[in-house]
Amino acid sequence: MSTSSLAKQPALSESKGHTSLQQALAAELAEMETQGLLRQRRTLETPQGARVRVDGREYVAFCSNDYLGLAAHPELIEAAREGAARFGVGAGASHLVLGHSGAHAALERTLAEFVGLPRALLFSTGYQANLGVVTALLGRADAVFADRLNHASLNDAALLSRAEFKRYPHFDLDALERLLAGSRARRKLIATDAVFSMDGDVAPVPELAALAERHDAWLLLDDAHGFGVMGPQGRGVLARSGVRSPRVIYMATLGKAAGVFGAFVAGEPEVLEALVQRARAYIYTTAAPPLLAHTLQKSLELIRAADGRRDHLRGLSRLLRERLRLKRWTLAPSESAIQPLIIGGNREAVAASEALAREGLLVPAIRPPTVPRGTARLRISLSAAHGAGDVERLADALNALQ
Ligand code: PMP
Repeated sequence: MSTSSLAKQPALSESKGHTSLQQALAAELAEMETQGLLRQRRTLETPQGARVRVDGREYVAFCSNDYLGLAAHPELIEAAREGAARFGVGAGASHLVLGHSGAHAALERTLAEFVGLPRALLFSTGYQANLGVVTALLGRADAVFADRLNHASLNDAALLSRAEFKRYPHFDLDALERLLAGSRARRKLIATDAVFSMDGDVAPVPELAALAERHDAWLLLDDAHGFGVMGPQGRGVLARSGVRSPRVIYMATLGKAAGVFGAFVAGEPEVLEALVQRARAYIYTTAAPPLLAHTLQKSLELIRAADGRRDHLRGLSRLLRERLRLKRWTLAPSESAIQPLIIGGNREAVAASEALAREGLLVPAIRPPTVPRGTARLRISLSAAHGAGDVERLADALNALQ
């Protein structure tokens, strides 16, 4: 569980005849290690869930985005089997060649209806969906207005589009309005996480939609962490807000609360058709296996019927917040399943994560550049698969740590 030293890795430091390019990389990696920024992968030996085995040891894990505990749900496993039998394993081609299966088409219809928007389009991942939307809709003469705490994929999308990239302080709508008012861009797009991935707070959708209206801008809402969890029947943050606007482009992922894999964009038919025609992250890539689309139909049925799971999840968030007795660390305000415990220093965050691991509790330490410098944190991610006892154990362990 420790952040192992590069010196222990012969491939990097002891291999003979390595080039100056390799030496430079090894020096950069060593510097990252000095700063407590090296990341480690753990190997999961069980399906994703509240209880996992990693490197031969059992843990209660607070690491996944499997908020409803569906990733290994028996009905989804059965649907995947059935999907493989009906549609095979690989899509074999991109959507615009011959990779677009009846399973994809049916899921797009179900998703559009579920989130209450005219049309939906599947992407293989949320990362690709964000790249696809921004690059298809904007170019050099245009501008993206982005919350400073947005997910990396929205930032990468803005950079790749070559549009002007303006960032506003987190939730600072006055700053956003000033940027919008001062812009001479041909087309404007406001981009925001709907539930912030490392903070768990929810974007003010009605106010953002009003700004989009006033300044003739698109509003791209990335609901990776709200879909399935927030809103009536888990229909997401947009449905929860009650906002209906042709300016909204809604993106959500299907590998988090939905428990499977993939993402979709939903919105007005013109937007979606522009994506089919122009989004390179859609066009130049193999379609996701249709068996996943088939499985996701079952996942949506489970999500619709999961009010009990959502209530339980909200109860766990409340329980954690009530039971923590914080001294030096702070719990950021969050009503979602993401409960961030801000620690500050990188090494202290890693040490806290390692101390919890020794107690059989897995909570990831999140460091820059994923979060701003000086705000390294434990990202406690709750799932409906946790019991109250799991959360109490975590809170007690955290209380004993500081
Ligand atoms: N947007 C946000 C806000 C996310 O948190 C993530 C995933 N961490 C993504 C997009 C990317 O989604 P995917 O994992 O499906 O690529």
